[in-house]
Amino acid sequence: MTNTTVAEFANELKRPTDALLEQLQAAGVAKQSASDALTDSDKQKLLSYLQASHGTASAARKKITLTKKSTSEIKQADATGKARTIQVEVRKKRTFIKREDEVAPAPAPAEAAPEAPAPVAPIIDAAEQARREEEARRQAELMRRQAEEQAEKRRQREEQERLAAERAREAELAAAAAAAAAPAPVPEAMTEVPAAPAPIPVAEPPKAEQVKTEPVKAEAPVSAAEGEAARAREQDEKRRKALAEAEAIRAMMSAPRKVLVAKKPEEIKKPDDAKAGIKGTLHKPAGGTTTAAAKTATPGANKEVKSAKLSSSWAGDPAKKKGIPTRGDSSGGVGRNNWRGGPRGRRGERDRDDHAAAAAPAENRVVEVHVPETITVAELAHKMSIKASEVIKQLMKLGQMVTINQPLDQDTAMIVVEELGHKAVVAALDDPEAFTEEEVQAQTAESLPRAPVVTVMGHVDHGKTSLLDYIRRAKVASGEAGGITQHIGAYHVETPRGVVSFLDTPGHEAFTAMRARGAQATDIVILVVAADDGVMPQTKEAVKHAKAAGVPIVVAINKMDKPEANPERVKSELVAEQVVPEEFGGDSPFVPVSAKTGQGIDELLEQVLLQAEVLELRAPVEAAAKGLVIEASLDKGRGPVATVLVQSGTLKVGDVVLAGQTSGRVRAMLDENGRSTKSAGPSIPVEIQGLTEVPQAGDDFMVMVDERRAREIATYRAGKFRHTKLAKQQAAKLENMFADMAAGEVKQLPIIIKADVQGSQEALAASLLKLSTDEVKVQMVYTGVGGISESDVNLAIASKAIIIGFNTRADAGARKLAESNGVDIHYYSIIYDAVDELKVAMSGMLAPEKREEVIGTAEIRTVFVASKIGTVAGSYITSGSVNRSAHFRLLRDNVVIYTGEIDSIKRLKDDVREVKEGFECGIKLKNYNDIKEGDQLEFFEIKEIARTL
Ligand code: GDP
Repeated sequence: MTNTTVAEFANELKRPTDALLEQLQAAGVAKQSASDALTDSDKQKLLSYLQASHGTASAARKKITLTKKSTSEIKQADATGKARTIQVEVRKKRTFIKREDEVAPAPAPAEAAPEAPAPVAPIIDAAEQARREEEARRQAELMRRQAEEQAEKRRQREEQERLAAERAREAELAAAAAAAAAPAPVPEAMTEVPAAPAPIPVAEPPKAEQVKTEPVKAEAPVSAAEGEAARAREQDEKRRKALAEAEAIRAMMSAPRKVLVAKKPEEIKKPDDAKAGIKGTLHKPAGGTTTAAAKTATPGANKEVKSAKLSSSWAGDPAKKKGIPTRGDSSGGVGRNNWRGGPRGRRGERDRDDHAAAAAPAENRVVEVHVPETITVAELAHKMSIKASEVIKQLMKLGQMVTINQPLDQDTAMIVVEELGHKAVVAALDDPEAFTEEEVQAQTAESLPRAPVVTVMGHVDHGKTSLLDYIRRAKVASGEAGGITQHIGAYHVETPRGVVSFLDTPGHEAFTAMRARGAQATDIVILVVAADDGVMPQTKEAVKHAKAAGVPIVVAINKMDKPEANPERVKSELVAEQVVPEEFGGDSPFVPVSAKTGQGIDELLEQVLLQAEVLELRAPVEAAAKGLVIEASLDKGRGPVATVLVQSGTLKVGDVVLAGQTSGRVRAMLDENGRSTKSAGPSIPVEIQGLTEVPQAGDDFMVMVDERRAREIATYRAGKFRHTKLAKQQAAKLENMFADMAAGEVKQLPIIIKADVQGSQEALAASLLKLSTDEVKVQMVYTGVGGISESDVNLAIASKAIIIGFNTRADAGARKLAESNGVDIHYYSIIYDAVDELKVAMSGMLAPEKREEVIGTAEIRTVFVASKIGTVAGSYITSGSVNRSAHFRLLRDNVVIYTGEIDSIKRLKDDVREVKEGFECGIKLKNYNDIKEGDQLEFFEIKEIARTL
């Protein structure tokens, strides 16, 4: 063969001359410049070198593709309680390719090339080195991947392409070299090097795509060294696989909705991106071939796949993308800020919405829908840009018949959203995003210092009322002195140092009840302890409550005017309760006062304000009001009235208020002295009228801009509240099941109380609950203030409860419903009457007491055995009498050996009912024959005695 120059050869191989020169040098062919001549033997040397160092390595370098598929099921119950099984298929495809640059050209001596074992040893080193390098690279990659997985993927892809192209070129080079060399030496080399791989030119057709998709099985036989390297790699891969799996699981856990979302038919049709990681599908797409097909894609095709992945269903139709925010979009979906129907407003737009929805192609875009506490069907449909009928249809599937204007509760709406393949996000009421812009504005105002809200607590008769009265008398503006009658359970006083608001909650229970509802009304507690009485049970209770609420305590040692006052005793007793005076290094100021003489009251207020300063109480003033319902009642003339404490913002007449489960527009507002007022700022209590129903003490109230929304939320809260109440009861029942089982059958007396005012409602409920015994339990299904309505009766029907109306009456509808369903409604106006009557009712439910009463005795004188009847005791009645229904005890030597019933009694031949003392008779005992002469019989009856509580 003719000699060629290096440059020519390089040109022939389409390789840079420099690179070829390097390779030649590595192969032991000393060529310095491109113009050097290249002989056939040189080429052969190069070939052997490439075969030895590269060929084997290339076999090992071949990519390893692992496809891991795992299927699992998620079971989840929807709102209707139906369990749904979701098939989740997780597929991972990882391709590991050894990079060319890692297989450093082995410094194989040229003369060793044709010999078999010589190249092997350097290969081990090269492989080892490569392995280490690769490991380091993978570690780094792993870390990087977590931060920038996308970038990494792209890089990998590019790398693969480059690698493939390079390898293709190398293969070409080798092929060309082989072609250039005499064809004979090749098989010769093969026979000489048994560990060497199969001829590379055959094993590796120089086609990029094929190289990429070539499955692992195409691998050529590997040498021992190769095997070791492969094992090491395998371990690496295992670790990587485990990590990838963990990551995939994490991803799946954190984004279960993504998995759901991936079920869209469009996506199924689309070839999966080979490296997409997880794709959960409901219907799994065709097997691995799809992914392989995706892998074969050229760089251009790859891009396409990528874009398809990013825009999911919009691939190839950018027009559709326009203006539709996606989940990933920072705009947060259609309904984030304009969730009430957007700028177009929410009323009267539905038709148009429907048209718009109809006009839009039925696309499966995934929208993040913010679902507020309530939402109408039409609004929900609008948010998802679908027809309202779609939503109705979906609800029908879930077993609910709804109309277009019907408001749905949050849970239902969220299920519908998810069912329709969108993403539902809870929009809490307090979440600014759930408000319209004006409402948000109303919420964000500068915080200014506010007055402390104080509750006076302490043992009964220690002077709480006297103290409050004194403060009122002394501090309330002088103009009103004299005829002040306390109007509402809260008031504020102005002192030179500042304003203090007092909450006059009746007893500690109200305090705790408010706390139990999550309402923290009080900033500071004044603990009143009589100096002549010391710490009493209710004092301890008050301390417990205050501590539990984390409210600072100011101790007022009252009745200091009394000669027997002993403040030191109070101090030491309170220290035992962990209320440590400041003088002892604690944090509670102790102020000796007298509600009678007014001694120390100023200092007490000062201490309260000092504590308040420490607390740095602030609240926005120029904002929509928020606060708490302190008490509420149904006024005959004025309807529901509620005393509320404004906690932030300013409440004005005319505001729309949502309070617990009720709403309304503030019609009139009275201050604590019963005078009408127009507005109330933070820490100021007022009485408001205009709510549609009586709220509960401790309910939150907030001003809303939209009256209809307020009403909707209130309605739904009412419904929900009852559901949760019932659910809780159910849960409680389940919890108590074992206790109940142990205690025998426990009877429940479910009660619904409706009272005129909160106070009597609570008092009645408490007294009735106290009637519970181990056997009969009073169960408060619902207590509320106001008239008895149809919904109360319905609740009573559902829970088989009796209704107690305390100073309230059922309306006509409720009465009719109660009559037709046999619901018991009892009216009372005195608590004791209610308690007494209920006691009687409960007594009726008590299991009667069973008492034995001995009615007679007899002596067995003879024993007959009649073939037909059995054994009969010929007896003589020694005392009392015996009758057929009596029970007997068989006594032998005064020991009871059997207790049972009498079968029959005969006198002469006749059956008789009763035999009296002094007569003889034959008695047949039921199921008992082992009787003897001389045995005694004792007859008794079991009497049931009704019990009382
Ligand atoms: P409450 O049950 O804690 O509200 O206690 P009251 O305010 O009803 O007071 C109970 C009794 O203690 C009343 O008879 C008051 O006159 C009396 N009392 C309250 N404070 C003082 C005080 O500072 N000095 C004296 N001597 N008697 C007081």
